Amino acid sequence: MKLKIDLHVHTSYSCDSLITPKELIFYAKNRGLDGVAVTDHDRLDGALKISEETDFLIIPGMEITSKDGHVIGLNVQEPVPPGLSADETVDRIHEAGGIAVACHPAVPFKGSLRKHVTSKFDAVEVINASAFPFHYSVRQGEKIASRLGKARVAGSDAHYGPEIGYAYTIVNAESEADEIIEAIRKCQCLPFGTAIPLKIRLKREFLALERKF
Ligand SMILES: [Zn+2]
Ligand SMILES: [Zn+2]
Repeated sequence: MKLKIDLHVHTSYSCDSLITPKELIFYAKNRGLDGVAVTDHDRLDGALKISEETDFLIIPGMEITSKDGHVIGLNVQEPVPPGLSADETVDRIHEAGGIAVACHPAVPFKGSLRKHVTSKFDAVEVINASAFPFHYSVRQGEKIASRLGKARVAGSDAHYGPEIGYAYTIVNAESEADEIIEAIRKCQCLPFGTAIPLKIRLKREFLALERKF
């Protein structure tokens, strides 16, 4: 079964995201996705809660602010603390039953891991639809993934509903979180997607600003 999954979405449980749980499901279905990974900044409770409250496929995850850059833990069963080294963070993700993704590994101004992406990681986020400059970031991600021989994945890094699904991963698996994670670990997946259009990004910035004042 080929599943279309956005592996990097922030909900309103991340302080900087505008996406409510309801909007998450609405936009994900609208974009023809089969599932999403909820990866809020340094918290897992929202992802777990949303996955319990819906029949839509949600992979619980978190984007951890490690000392060396952002790391995504997918399908973790318990939270991993921020502030550890990238190496320790990957170990803790594995202990929590998940896989470690080097998200936006070489994107400027995004808290990227760069040289801290090692063969300990399970996957590299080659396409991040929020990355700027986009094509440069994809090329750098591809280089890192092929150097390490790791699975190549994609996600939107959406913080605003209409951004969901601009990048996604096609995974060859049954529609269940554990199966999907296993397939990614075995590189049975491919990244797809484009940059989020400027118009949508600007709208998000505007709405985020409006919320602050
Ligand atoms: Zn990040
Ligand atoms: Zn993110």
